Amino acid sequence: MAQSKYTTHLGMVDILPDEVRKWQYLENLIRQEAHKFNFEEIRTPIMEQTELIVRGLGQLTDIVSKEIFAFSRGEDNYVLRPELTAPVVRAYVEHHLGQRGGSQKLFYIGPMFRAERPQKGRQRQFHQFGLEVLGSSDAVADAEVIAFMIHIYNKIGIKNTTLKINSIGDPESRDKYKEALKAHLKPNFDKLSDVSKKRFEKNPLRILDSKEEEDQPFIETAPVITDFLNDDSVNHYNKVKDYLSELGISFEEDPYLVRGMDYYTQTAFELISPDLGAQDALAGGGRYDLLVEEIGGQPTPAVGFAAGMERLLIACEELGIVLGDEKSVDVYIVTLGDAARKWGLAQLPKLRSNGISATMDYMGRSMKAQMKDANRENARFAIIVGENELKEGKFTFRNMTESEEESLTFDDILGKF
Ligand code: AMP
Repeated sequence: MAQSKYTTHLGMVDILPDEVRKWQYLENLIRQEAHKFNFEEIRTPIMEQTELIVRGLGQLTDIVSKEIFAFSRGEDNYVLRPELTAPVVRAYVEHHLGQRGGSQKLFYIGPMFRAERPQKGRQRQFHQFGLEVLGSSDAVADAEVIAFMIHIYNKIGIKNTTLKINSIGDPESRDKYKEALKAHLKPNFDKLSDVSKKRFEKNPLRILDSKEEEDQPFIETAPVITDFLNDDSVNHYNKVKDYLSELGISFEEDPYLVRGMDYYTQTAFELISPDLGAQDALAGGGRYDLLVEEIGGQPTPAVGFAAGMERLLIACEELGIVLGDEKSVDVYIVTLGDAARKWGLAQLPKLRSNGISATMDYMGRSMKAQMKDANRENARFAIIVGENELKEGKFTFRNMTESEEESLTFDDILGKF
């Protein structure tokens, strides 16, 4: 086959029709289940102001320092959204969503952009679904957010997962921990990776997330944040664990779990799958009690998670889980001759308005080729019409799976559905 002159950008993937059916199934499931949890969908623009993402996620995070697609046009700085928590918080503040009363329970589905080095489970345009609860500091919100995340994977049949949780405390606890961590790392500062050296002063917590070989010995022996939590943070963390147990959700505590964005406070969690290989995180999230204020709103506690949809689909493939149905159509009208073709075209709207999916040949093919096409399209039934059928007002109605035929009027055919 001739090579295409134009291709997608590196790490950006076309989702072709056979794949789209899986995506639609997944998206429908997410919407339906979010509705059961009483969450409302929010949709924000693909592009945001660069400053929002820099302020929201943190200047020194990998995403902001290395991975954003940003450009300017006139006076404005645009960034392709790398995640949706900061944009949702922006929308919450901009539209005073807090004034709707109660906590805002929002969900989203959509594409995100990060200029990472592509590999299996890591793309430059990828998709996430996620939840955000704004306006609740109660551990019930943390537990419900985690419960929804697990629920989606369970519902699909991905059960072999590990939920890791941690508390990174409030700023007071975290400041104490940062000092202890720096004291631990300082004697070996020269042996740390360059990235970690850079993070040492401004953002030492991120060193715990380093994948660099030379950092590992110092991470393994580092003090743990849970020893530095103040009473409020300990209480919150204990409640989250208690509620998860109440819900029958098992978890592993990982005191070195820190997440990729600076906005997190208190609860942090990640869902890991052994079926994914190197990129083993299915989803992750946590509390971000200070972000709304950081972005210019009133102090508003919040918690959420984001899940990678490509990784969910990879896990399905590994586990042999098939999402969605095969391509199919209810009726294929097979015609012989011009008059029959015109008749067929005129019946399509009638079938469709009765809730029956229907199609016919668009290529002027022979009857035999049309039957073949009906099979290829996985038609459940064919209506076969030639000059005689038109004259008599009775048409061959063929059940394609049973290979059985009847001669029926068009009204009788409609009555079959
Ligand atoms: P994050 O927003 O970084 O917390 O990521 C949440 C989830 O999104 C991860 O657990 C992954 O499943 C998914 N994810 C993040 N980055 C990518 C990427 N570049 N390609 C595919 N999935 C990703």
